[in-house]
Amino acid sequence: TKRIHNRLHGASGDGGPLGRTERDHYEAILAATEAQLVRYVGPQDIVVLHDPQTLGLAPALAARGRRVVWRCHVGTDASNEATDEAWAFLDPYLASCDAFVFSRASYAPAAVPGDRLWVIPPSIDPLSAKNRELPAPDVAAVLRRIGLHDGPAPERAPFVRGDGSAAEVRRHATVLGGEPLPAGMPLVVQVSRWDHLKDMAGVLAGFATGVLGRAEAALALVGPAVGEVADDPESAVVLGECTAAWRALPAAARARIRLVSLPMDDVEENAAMVNAVQRSAAVVVQKSLAEGFGLTVAEAMWKARPVVASAVGGIVDQVAPGTGILLDDPADLDAFADAVAGVLATPDRGAAMGRRAHGHVRDGFLGDRHLMRYGRLLETLAGS
Ligand code: UDP
Repeated sequence: TKRIHNRLHGASGDGGPLGRTERDHYEAILAATEAQLVRYVGPQDIVVLHDPQTLGLAPALAARGRRVVWRCHVGTDASNEATDEAWAFLDPYLASCDAFVFSRASYAPAAVPGDRLWVIPPSIDPLSAKNRELPAPDVAAVLRRIGLHDGPAPERAPFVRGDGSAAEVRRHATVLGGEPLPAGMPLVVQVSRWDHLKDMAGVLAGFATGVLGRAEAALALVGPAVGEVADDPESAVVLGECTAAWRALPAAARARIRLVSLPMDDVEENAAMVNAVQRSAAVVVQKSLAEGFGLTVAEAMWKARPVVASAVGGIVDQVAPGTGILLDDPADLDAFADAVAGVLATPDRGAAMGRRAHGHVRDGFLGDRHLMRYGRLLETLAGS
């Protein structure tokens, strides 16, 4: 499924085949899943399948008379050989879907009929541990607890879970780079899975060569602990490449750059760590080479952070003029460094951008809008 995911983004990924063997494997796994799923699905239910991992369940569900919505959050605006290959793999399952939800209309393949296509971008939950208000002292405590910032060990590093209960960040991150960073130093942050398409290595290179020397700032590349995202087999490779690139930097650059792997044992504790890291950032970057939507962008904008991000995929729909900086060419390290250094040099401009960003996410990318859009879709299906 990672191979399908990469190709839907227009990248070849590991370069391996998507042929008969892969299809047999995919269908065998889904057949086992389907046997468990059908126990829960009643005759009136509508099943919403998410992403390529689950699409292959559609024919079996349709054969039982169940209505199926397939929601796909990945895609590219332009097709190439890789996207064609991924869509050829997925094509046999599409006809069994009653409706399709894509984050952007341009992601839908030709095989999706226009009258069944719904464009619904994702949203963020402002009451989740990831996005909930976190007072500045708690942000500072979490960053010291995980080992990113210097200072005395905090007595408590509290956060609130999605159900409203009180909790604490207790675990540490694995931080490559030695000593904790000085807490007062402006921090540039990218939070992503360790995935080539997120271009963590490009962020590292652009920051080392184009931002250090112009700004007193540090960089944290933050991702989940390797091996803890079950369907992401590339993470160890990407983190390894970033580690090698970090080791090859001069000592002065290494002193300012940290590679941070966050434990995933408790997903809400992990979310609270992400929340604190994003809130502490002077600039949040998302230098992706391809992006379905880019939740990290909405998350940072909600926290009123100035964002510097590639003008790819759903990021373009989120960053409106004045609410952040879009980079036309995601591979242009000079433009990336100029934009980041520019925001660091003008904190007032960054703060104003962040305030507008917060309002923009409030108006367009919270759960209420999302629910209304899904409400209309489900109402239409239920009435058909
Ligand atoms: N994320 C997280 N912990 C981490 C790294 C990432 O919770 O250690 C979250 C991040 O906050 C965001 C999601 O993973 O909510 C990534 O979604 P996005 O749309 O940005 O990219 P995707 O991973 O779906 O390609």
